[in-house]
Amino acid sequence: MPRLTGKVALVTGASRGIGRATALALGKDGANVVVNYISSAAAAEEVVSEIGPDRSIAIKADVSNRDDIARLIKETVGRFGKIDVLVLNAGLLWQKGDLMSISEENFDRLFAANVRGPLFTVQEAVPHIPDGGRVLLFSSSLTAVSMITPNYLLYTASKGAVEQMTRVLAKDLGRRGVTVNTIAPGPIGTDAYYEGKTEQMVQMQSNLSPAGRLGKPEEVANVVTFLASDESQWVNGQTVRINGGMTVG
Ligand code: NAP
Repeated sequence: MPRLTGKVALVTGASRGIGRATALALGKDGANVVVNYISSAAAAEEVVSEIGPDRSIAIKADVSNRDDIARLIKETVGRFGKIDVLVLNAGLLWQKGDLMSISEENFDRLFAANVRGPLFTVQEAVPHIPDGGRVLLFSSSLTAVSMITPNYLLYTASKGAVEQMTRVLAKDLGRRGVTVNTIAPGPIGTDAYYEGKTEQMVQMQSNLSPAGRLGKPEEVANVVTFLASDESQWVNGQTVRINGGMTVG
Protein backbone atom coordinates (compact mmCIF):
# COMPACT_ATOMS: atom_id res chain seq x y z
CA MET A 1 0.00 0.00 0.00
CA PRO A 2 1.40 3.49 -0.82
CA ARG A 3 2.83 5.10 2.34
CA LEU A 4 0.44 8.09 2.47
CA THR A 5 -2.80 6.18 1.91
CA GLY A 6 -5.58 7.70 4.03
CA LYS A 7 -3.66 10.93 4.66
CA VAL A 8 -4.93 14.34 3.59
CA ALA A 9 -2.44 16.85 2.18
CA LEU A 10 -3.05 20.52 1.46
CA VAL A 11 -0.46 22.07 -0.86
CA THR A 12 -0.56 25.84 -1.35
CA GLY A 13 0.51 27.11 -4.78
CA ALA A 14 0.12 23.69 -6.35
CA SER A 15 -0.88 24.69 -9.89
CA ARG A 16 2.70 25.23 -11.08
CA GLY A 17 6.36 24.68 -10.26
CA ILE A 18 7.49 22.99 -7.06
CA GLY A 19 3.97 22.93 -5.59
CA ARG A 20 2.61 21.10 -8.62
CA ALA A 21 5.35 18.47 -8.52
CA THR A 22 4.77 18.10 -4.77
CA ALA A 23 1.00 17.65 -5.11
CA LEU A 24 1.53 15.00 -7.78
CA ALA A 25 4.15 13.17 -5.71
CA LEU A 26 1.95 13.18 -2.59
CA GLY A 27 -0.94 11.91 -4.72
CA LYS A 28 1.25 9.15 -6.15
CA ASP A 29 2.14 8.15 -2.59
CA GLY A 30 -1.57 7.65 -1.90
CA ALA A 31 -2.60 10.93 -0.20
CA ASN A 32 -5.81 12.83 -0.83
CA VAL A 33 -4.60 16.19 -2.11
CA VAL A 34 -6.01 19.72 -2.06
CA VAL A 35 -4.50 21.74 -4.89
CA ASN A 36 -4.52 25.43 -3.96
CA TYR A 37 -3.89 28.14 -6.58
CA ILE A 38 -4.53 31.83 -7.06
CA SER A 39 -5.13 32.31 -10.80
CA SER A 40 -4.19 29.22 -12.87
CA ALA A 41 -7.50 27.34 -12.65
CA ALA A 42 -6.90 25.15 -15.71
CA ALA A 43 -3.44 24.14 -14.51
CA ALA A 44 -4.80 23.30 -11.06
CA GLU A 45 -7.59 21.17 -12.56
CA GLU A 46 -4.97 19.29 -14.60
CA VAL A 47 -3.17 18.36 -11.39
CA VAL A 48 -6.47 17.22 -9.89
CA SER A 49 -7.32 15.02 -12.86
CA GLU A 50 -3.83 13.48 -12.80
CA ILE A 51 -4.19 12.55 -9.12
CA GLY A 52 -7.82 11.48 -9.56
CA PRO A 53 -10.90 13.64 -8.92
CA ASP A 54 -12.11 11.09 -6.34
CA ARG A 55 -9.27 12.07 -4.01
CA SER A 56 -8.24 15.56 -5.10
CA ILE A 57 -9.84 18.99 -5.41
CA ALA A 58 -8.63 22.40 -6.54
CA ILE A 59 -9.37 25.42 -4.33
CA LYS A 60 -8.72 28.98 -5.44
CA ALA A 61 -7.53 31.10 -2.51
CA ASP A 62 -5.04 33.91 -2.03
CA VAL A 63 -2.92 32.74 0.90
CA SER A 64 -1.87 36.30 1.69
CA ASN A 65 -5.50 37.08 2.58
CA ARG A 66 -6.96 36.05 5.97
CA ASP A 67 -10.50 35.46 4.70
CA ASP A 68 -9.23 33.31 1.84
CA ILE A 69 -7.08 31.29 4.25
CA ALA A 70 -10.08 30.63 6.50
CA ARG A 71 -12.17 29.51 3.53
CA LEU A 72 -9.36 27.32 2.17
CA ILE A 73 -9.10 25.44 5.46
CA LYS A 74 -12.89 25.22 5.85
CA GLU A 75 -13.37 23.79 2.36
CA THR A 76 -10.48 21.35 2.81
CA VAL A 77 -11.88 20.02 6.08
CA GLY A 78 -15.41 20.04 4.63
CA ARG A 79 -14.27 17.72 1.86
CA PHE A 80 -11.69 15.50 3.58
CA GLY A 81 -12.29 15.98 7.35
CA LYS A 82 -8.71 16.73 8.46
CA ILE A 83 -5.26 17.94 7.31
CA ASP A 84 -2.43 15.49 7.99
CA VAL A 85 0.13 17.24 5.81
CA LEU A 86 0.20 21.00 5.35
CA VAL A 87 2.64 22.14 2.66
CA LEU A 88 3.07 25.93 2.62
CA ASN A 89 4.76 26.26 -0.73
CA ALA A 90 3.03 29.33 -2.23
CA GLY A 91 5.29 32.32 -2.18
CA LEU A 92 6.77 35.11 -4.24
CA LEU A 93 10.31 34.72 -5.52
CA TRP A 94 11.51 38.29 -5.97
CA GLN A 95 14.96 39.35 -7.03
CA LYS A 96 14.03 43.02 -6.83
CA GLY A 97 14.33 44.61 -3.44
CA ASP A 98 17.78 45.99 -2.68
CA LEU A 99 18.03 48.56 0.11
CA MET A 100 17.44 51.73 -1.90
CA SER A 101 14.62 50.40 -4.09
CA ILE A 102 12.45 48.79 -1.43
CA SER A 103 9.04 50.40 -1.08
CA GLU A 104 6.67 49.86 1.82
CA GLU A 105 4.15 48.48 -0.64
CA ASN A 106 6.58 45.83 -1.93
CA PHE A 107 7.66 44.99 1.61
CA ASP A 108 4.03 44.46 2.65
CA ARG A 109 3.17 42.42 -0.44
CA LEU A 110 6.15 40.10 -0.13
CA PHE A 111 5.82 39.58 3.61
CA ALA A 112 2.06 39.03 3.24
CA ALA A 113 2.67 36.20 0.77
CA ASN A 114 5.83 34.67 2.26
CA VAL A 115 5.44 35.18 6.02
CA ARG A 116 1.97 36.30 7.13
CA GLY A 117 0.23 33.82 4.78
CA PRO A 118 2.05 30.69 5.99
CA LEU A 119 1.82 31.76 9.66
CA PHE A 120 -1.94 32.31 9.64
CA THR A 121 -2.53 29.23 7.50
CA VAL A 122 -0.82 27.16 10.21
CA GLN A 123 -2.90 28.92 12.89
CA GLU A 124 -6.13 28.24 11.03
CA ALA A 125 -5.20 24.64 10.19
CA VAL A 126 -3.83 23.50 13.55
CA PRO A 127 -7.18 22.48 15.09
CA HIS A 128 -7.61 20.11 12.14
CA ILE A 129 -4.10 18.60 12.15
CA PRO A 130 -4.17 15.24 13.95
CA ASP A 131 -1.38 14.19 16.33
CA GLY A 132 1.59 13.01 14.24
CA GLY A 133 0.77 15.47 11.45
CA ARG A 134 3.24 17.36 9.30
CA VAL A 135 3.80 21.05 8.57
CA LEU A 136 6.25 21.95 5.81
CA LEU A 137 7.22 25.54 5.13
CA PHE A 138 9.32 26.93 2.28
CA SER A 139 12.47 28.99 2.57
CA SER A 140 15.37 29.23 0.09
CA SER A 141 19.01 28.16 0.10
CA LEU A 142 19.78 31.85 -0.50
CA THR A 143 19.52 32.35 3.27
CA ALA A 144 22.82 30.42 3.53
CA VAL A 145 24.69 31.59 0.41
CA SER A 146 27.70 33.80 1.20
CA MET A 147 27.81 35.38 -2.27
CA ILE A 148 24.26 36.74 -1.90
CA THR A 149 23.67 39.89 -3.98
CA PRO A 150 21.98 43.12 -2.70
CA ASN A 151 18.81 42.61 -4.78
CA TYR A 152 17.77 39.64 -2.66
CA LEU A 153 17.51 41.66 0.59
CA LEU A 154 13.72 41.64 0.81
CA TYR A 155 13.26 38.03 -0.35
CA THR A 156 15.87 36.52 1.96
CA ALA A 157 14.55 38.60 4.87
CA SER A 158 11.11 37.01 4.35
CA LYS A 159 12.58 33.51 4.11
CA GLY A 160 14.73 34.10 7.19
CA ALA A 161 11.50 34.80 9.06
CA VAL A 162 10.09 31.48 7.81
CA GLU A 163 13.13 29.59 9.12
CA GLN A 164 12.74 31.19 12.55
CA MET A 165 9.02 30.45 12.63
CA THR A 166 9.86 26.83 11.90
CA ARG A 167 12.19 26.54 14.90
CA VAL A 168 9.60 27.82 17.34
CA LEU A 169 6.57 26.06 15.83
CA ALA A 170 8.49 22.76 15.94
CA LYS A 171 8.83 23.10 19.72
CA ASP A 172 5.20 24.12 20.10
CA LEU A 173 3.46 21.55 17.87
CA GLY A 174 6.08 18.86 18.56
CA ARG A 175 4.42 18.25 21.94
CA ARG A 176 1.79 16.26 20.12
CA GLY A 177 4.03 14.70 17.50
CA VAL A 178 3.33 17.23 14.77
CA THR A 179 6.65 17.98 13.08
CA VAL A 180 7.44 21.33 11.48
CA ASN A 181 10.26 21.57 8.96
CA THR A 182 11.31 23.98 6.25
CA ILE A 183 12.34 23.08 2.74
CA ALA A 184 15.06 25.40 1.40
CA PRO A 185 15.66 24.72 -2.30
CA GLY A 186 18.52 26.08 -4.38
CA PRO A 187 17.72 27.31 -7.91
CA ILE A 188 14.95 25.14 -9.38
CA GLY A 189 13.86 25.56 -13.01
CA THR A 190 10.32 26.97 -12.53
CA ASP A 191 8.44 29.94 -14.02
CA ALA A 192 9.28 32.04 -10.97
CA TYR A 193 12.95 31.16 -11.21
CA TYR A 194 13.35 32.08 -14.89
CA GLU A 195 11.45 35.39 -14.61
CA GLY A 196 13.77 38.31 -15.29
CA LYS A 197 16.95 36.21 -15.63
CA THR A 198 19.28 36.27 -18.62
CA GLU A 199 20.75 33.02 -19.99
CA GLN A 200 24.07 34.12 -18.54
CA MET A 201 22.59 34.47 -15.06
CA VAL A 202 20.96 31.04 -15.30
CA GLN A 203 24.30 29.52 -16.38
CA MET A 204 26.14 31.26 -13.56
CA GLN A 205 23.66 30.02 -10.95
CA SER A 206 23.66 26.51 -12.44
CA ASN A 207 27.40 26.41 -11.91
CA LEU A 208 26.99 27.10 -8.19
CA SER A 209 26.21 23.40 -7.69
CA PRO A 210 28.96 20.85 -8.35
CA ALA A 211 26.71 19.10 -10.89
CA GLY A 212 26.54 22.35 -12.89
CA ARG A 213 22.77 22.39 -13.35
CA LEU A 214 19.54 23.69 -11.85
CA GLY A 215 17.43 21.45 -9.63
CA LYS A 216 14.14 19.97 -10.81
CA PRO A 217 10.78 20.44 -9.04
CA GLU A 218 10.52 16.63 -8.70
CA GLU A 219 13.80 16.55 -6.77
CA VAL A 220 12.24 18.82 -4.16
CA ALA A 221 8.96 16.90 -4.19
CA ASN A 222 10.77 13.63 -3.38
CA VAL A 223 12.10 15.11 -0.14
CA VAL A 224 8.70 16.57 0.74
CA THR A 225 7.03 13.15 0.42
CA PHE A 226 9.60 11.65 2.78
CA LEU A 227 9.07 14.46 5.31
CA ALA A 228 5.31 13.96 4.93
CA SER A 229 5.61 10.25 5.75
CA ASP A 230 5.69 8.48 9.11
CA GLU A 231 9.35 7.56 8.49
CA SER A 232 10.42 11.16 9.10
CA GLN A 233 9.01 11.35 12.67
CA TRP A 234 12.37 12.24 14.26
CA VAL A 235 13.10 15.10 11.85
CA ASN A 236 11.68 18.21 13.47
CA GLY A 237 12.51 21.92 13.44
CA GLN A 238 14.98 21.57 10.60
CA THR A 239 15.73 23.60 7.50
CA VAL A 240 16.40 21.03 4.80
CA ARG A 241 18.53 22.45 1.99
CA ILE A 242 17.89 20.81 -1.38
CA ASN A 243 20.47 22.30 -3.71
CA GLY A 244 22.81 19.61 -5.06
CA GLY A 245 25.65 20.86 -2.87
CA MET A 246 25.43 24.58 -3.72
CA THR A 247 25.76 25.24 0.00
CA VAL A 248 27.49 22.75 2.28
CA GLY A 249 27.86 22.41 6.02
P1 NAP B 1 6.10 29.40 -9.11
O1 NAP B 1 6.58 28.57 -10.25
O2 NAP B 1 5.95 30.87 -9.30
O3 NAP B 1 4.69 28.82 -8.61
C1 NAP B 1 4.05 29.53 -7.62
C2 NAP B 1 2.76 28.82 -7.25
O4 NAP B 1 2.20 29.52 -6.13
C3 NAP B 1 1.72 28.85 -8.33
O5 NAP B 1 0.97 27.65 -8.24
C4 NAP B 1 0.87 30.07 -7.97
O6 NAP B 1 -0.49 29.94 -8.38
C5 NAP B 1 0.91 30.00 -6.46
N1 NAP B 1 0.72 31.27 -5.77
C6 NAP B 1 1.44 32.41 -5.87
N2 NAP B 1 0.97 33.35 -5.02
C7 NAP B 1 -0.08 32.77 -4.37
C8 NAP B 1 -0.99 33.22 -3.38
N3 NAP B 1 -0.90 34.46 -2.89
N4 NAP B 1 -1.95 32.37 -2.96
C9 NAP B 1 -2.04 31.11 -3.45
N5 NAP B 1 -1.21 30.63 -4.39
C10 NAP B 1 -0.25 31.46 -4.85
O7 NAP B 1 7.02 29.23 -7.81
P2 NAP B 1 8.13 28.10 -7.45
O8 NAP B 1 9.41 28.48 -8.09
O9 NAP B 1 7.58 26.75 -7.66
O10 NAP B 1 8.32 28.40 -5.88
C11 NAP B 1 7.58 27.74 -4.90
C12 NAP B 1 8.20 28.02 -3.53
O11 NAP B 1 9.56 27.60 -3.50
C13 NAP B 1 8.20 29.51 -3.14
O12 NAP B 1 7.92 29.63 -1.77
C14 NAP B 1 9.63 29.95 -3.45
O13 NAP B 1 10.04 31.04 -2.66
C15 NAP B 1 10.38 28.67 -3.08
N6 NAP B 1 11.69 28.56 -3.74
C16 NAP B 1 11.78 28.46 -5.10
C17 NAP B 1 13.04 28.37 -5.69
C18 NAP B 1 13.22 28.28 -7.19
O14 NAP B 1 14.36 28.40 -7.64
N7 NAP B 1 12.18 28.05 -7.97
C19 NAP B 1 14.18 28.38 -4.90
C20 NAP B 1 14.04 28.49 -3.51
C21 NAP B 1 12.79 28.58 -2.94
P3 NAP B 1 -0.98 30.40 -9.86
O15 NAP B 1 -0.45 29.36 -10.83
O16 NAP B 1 -2.47 30.33 -9.75
O17 NAP B 1 -0.42 31.74 -10.12
